[in-house]
Amino acid sequence: MGKKHICLDIGGTKVLGAILDEKDNITFKVKKKTKVDKGLEKVEERIIDVVDELIKESGTDKNEIAAIGAGAPGVINEETGEIIYAPNLPWKNYDIKKVMEKRFGIPFYIGNDANMGMLGEWKYGMAVKKENVVGIFVGTGVGGGLIINNKLFTGKRHDAGELGHMSLNTEGPYCNCGQRGCLEAYASKISITREIKVQIERGRKTILKDLLGEDSIIKSKDLKEAIDAKDSLALEVMDRAVYYLAAGTGNLINIFGPDMVVLGGGVLESLGDFIMPRVKDYVKRFTLPEILNGTEIVRSALGDDAIIYGSLAIIKGKKG
Ligand SMILES: [Zn+2]
Repeated sequence: MGKKHICLDIGGTKVLGAILDEKDNITFKVKKKTKVDKGLEKVEERIIDVVDELIKESGTDKNEIAAIGAGAPGVINEETGEIIYAPNLPWKNYDIKKVMEKRFGIPFYIGNDANMGMLGEWKYGMAVKKENVVGIFVGTGVGGGLIINNKLFTGKRHDAGELGHMSLNTEGPYCNCGQRGCLEAYASKISITREIKVQIERGRKTILKDLLGEDSIIKSKDLKEAIDAKDSLALEVMDRAVYYLAAGTGNLINIFGPDMVVLGGGVLESLGDFIMPRVKDYVKRFTLPEILNGTEIVRSALGDDAIIYGSLAIIKGKKG
């Protein structure tokens, strides 16, 4: 039996795949567009293509692969490997474990992407051996994961930990989920982009206008470029997003009294130096000082590889 693993981060826009060697180091990576708009079969084909390419391009023998793990958005039963539903992908009661095991003849494991990100940080990243941890992952949306009493908490229906849909303002902007004032409606790239566009339409001068171009959602690297150039609108919009991220973080600290909060995702990966000191400052307004004193707030150590490592943890049965 093989000792290597294949781990996948299946997202709404891209599928990232990696081969990890027997020492758990990433040795090879492949990235492809998900092509969500082409439907279920195309998405399935893209995931299979990534695995095929990883094996072929790296010169790995299929027999060297002990298992395949994955993280994907949606409500996923990590015990059975079934995707119950996914809001942004064409999946409902989709037995992806069966499909993948039939195709490759290799055991397949899967969990929710934000939960896998949390698991990655807990087993291989910043939160190793911490008993209670909150993970907030800021990207296109805002995902969350919880470690409670040394165990990944996903709830009885596998749908717990939707931290991004905590409403911070009941009269606030509408979120993709239909509620108002969610953390995601303030801190995600979707909401940051919306705020930038509103301000551009009001006639604000900003280099973000050129950086955004035809893109529907701003890229994290473009936000970073504007922040580095001290663009006043970029500073203002990001400061607002960080303020609400701190409000959400503060609520979660009050509720869970965690040992650690890990902030991750693409936005933190690019803009962590801007975000971290501000979050730590603003969060004081939203927490009880005694609880905050016992909580470390840190930036993800694994960055873009958090879900890959969480998928490795689930292969190895490390859910606590
Ligand atoms: Zn929401």
